[in-house]
Amino acid sequence: MHEVTTGATFQTWCAAAQAVVARDPGGRGAAALVVPGDLAGGALALWQAPSVLVATGFPQPGGVAETDGPPGAAALAAALAALGKRVALVAEEGVVPAVAAALEALRCPLPVVAYPLRPPAGFAAELLAETGARALVSVERPGRSASGHYHNMRGEVISDRVAPVDDLFLLAAAAGLPTVAVGDGGNEIGMGKVAERVRAAVPGGEGLAAATPCTWLVAAGVSNWGAWALAGALGRLAGRNLLPTVPDAEAALAAVVAAGAIDGVTGRQQATVDGLPPAEHAAVLQALWDLATAG
Ligand code: CA
Repeated sequence: MHEVTTGATFQTWCAAAQAVVARDPGGRGAAALVVPGDLAGGALALWQAPSVLVATGFPQPGGVAETDGPPGAAALAAALAALGKRVALVAEEGVVPAVAAALEALRCPLPVVAYPLRPPAGFAAELLAETGARALVSVERPGRSASGHYHNMRGEVISDRVAPVDDLFLLAAAAGLPTVAVGDGGNEIGMGKVAERVRAAVPGGEGLAAATPCTWLVAAGVSNWGAWALAGALGRLAGRNLLPTVPDAEAALAAVVAAGAIDGVTGRQQATVDGLPPAEHAAVLQALWDLATAG
């Protein structure tokens, strides 16, 4: 990899991108969860890793995918693959079709591993070894709370449909590997880094705060947006634009819906994310494009 400048200019760009994706039209308190500097830190960690494992999927009733997560994770995975990295994705079996569909829509076929709901002992360690991952990134994955359970945004326990992907992140952290996490509600992998803030700032935060931490946290109004911001920051480091186009992002969303994904807020199988219409998402992605192509 060629030498990169990671000084003030990069930090400033990331701060601007983080501000764009911290927009919180859903009023879920995401802006209060932002850790200044973590978008830049997370992007650098991914930039330096030759092999990255990307976890995504917030299983909905019936175990199907949510429209937030897979489209952004696929865009980020495509950016990492464009940089020549070895990339694999992981999600529950019921979520895998949506992730694969998003990758196909982005013309970027990559392996998607099914993480069992009740994996055999040693599964996480074996997966880490098999993929050779040197960094992990989570995009909208449920994170275990201090009680050991997984919760949705209403605080309800959803543990019976969530795979213990947290174990992968805890194992990686123990091995000294950087972990990057994108979330928007406080109940996702990585939010353990700001659990006190989740309890204070997120409606119902006391009952849903995730305990699983991360090295670098990207809090966003919608998790897909946070994944785009990481792709944008990687592009900044690479000296080329690695953001998905608006049409490609919309195609990825349409593909996950066709593969069965539902909007986690409305509960409907429709091309909205967190209850927000397409124009809202296009405006955020366009704002990132404006940042990526300015000066
Ligand atoms: Ca979300």
